[in-house]
Amino acid sequence: MTTLNHALAPTERTRVRRHSERAQTERTDLFAVLDAGMICHLGVVANGSPVVLPTAYGRIGDTLYLHGSSANRSLHAADGHEVCVTVTHVDGLVCARAAFTHSVNYRSAVVFGTARIVTDEAERLAGLRAVTEQLIPGRWDAVRAPTRKELAATSVLALPLAEASVKVRTGPPKDEQDDLGAGVWAGVLPLGITFGEPVPDPELPPGIGAPDHIRVRMEPGSR
Ligand SMILES: Cc1cc2nc3c(=O)[nH]c(=O)nc-3n(C[C@H](O)[C@H](O)[C@H](O)COP(=O)(O)OP(=O)(O)OC[C@H]3O[C@@H](n4cnc5c(N)ncnc54)[C@H](O)[C@@H]3O)c2cc1C
Repeated sequence: MTTLNHALAPTERTRVRRHSERAQTERTDLFAVLDAGMICHLGVVANGSPVVLPTAYGRIGDTLYLHGSSANRSLHAADGHEVCVTVTHVDGLVCARAAFTHSVNYRSAVVFGTARIVTDEAERLAGLRAVTEQLIPGRWDAVRAPTRKELAATSVLALPLAEASVKVRTGPPKDEQDDLGAGVWAGVLPLGITFGEPVPDPELPPGIGAPDHIRVRMEPGSR
């Protein structure tokens, strides 16, 4: 495994210019945003045309793993090419006194790099495990492992977390002084992800309740 600098060390394309005070610069900041997410957006040029698609992901150390059908166009277009992956959390709607000053509280990460289709079987399995565990920690060990046929039908894409930026907005609206007395409500409408009560599969035989790794997701703050 490659060991990267503790700091993100901005490059020409990852230096946050607009609201640079919102940039976070530690690798741990990047990991925090990635680890708290469930889906990313993969941006790739396929057949000469840019496409950005939502997809699941997982992280092992300094590598991000994405997976999909072996027929997945964007994963294969990414192999050996520059891609851009983003992860976004919307933490609140920032309601200001003027339309112009409305905003969003967020944590987001942008990763640039050359992606590669993983061919090593052990790394493929580890990547698939990471993707599954990112969505439902504890699930991989609770379910049947992929068969050879299922593995053959699946592609795994790896992206080094070497060149990335993190940007975070927090706090209240930033209205103009002249607007503060406008007499209109202003503030933040917080937003978070909450899981609902698990819905059993109709095919589930009686006596199989939702396991702890499912029930724990219903606790506040589980993600
Ligand atoms: C949920 C959400 C909603 C947003 N809505 C708006 C909107 O409506 N209008 C708007 O102008 N902006 C919005 N932003 C901010 C937007 O993502 C950009 O940061 C901003 O538009 C500046 O763009 P730029 O091209 O000038 O960035 P620059 O600062 O020039 O970008 C340079 C580099 O900084 C990094 N960077 C820039 N933005 C981000 C980011 N958000 N996260 C991580 N790295 C980043 C990238 O590596 C990028 O290549 C939103 C962000 C989020 C997360």
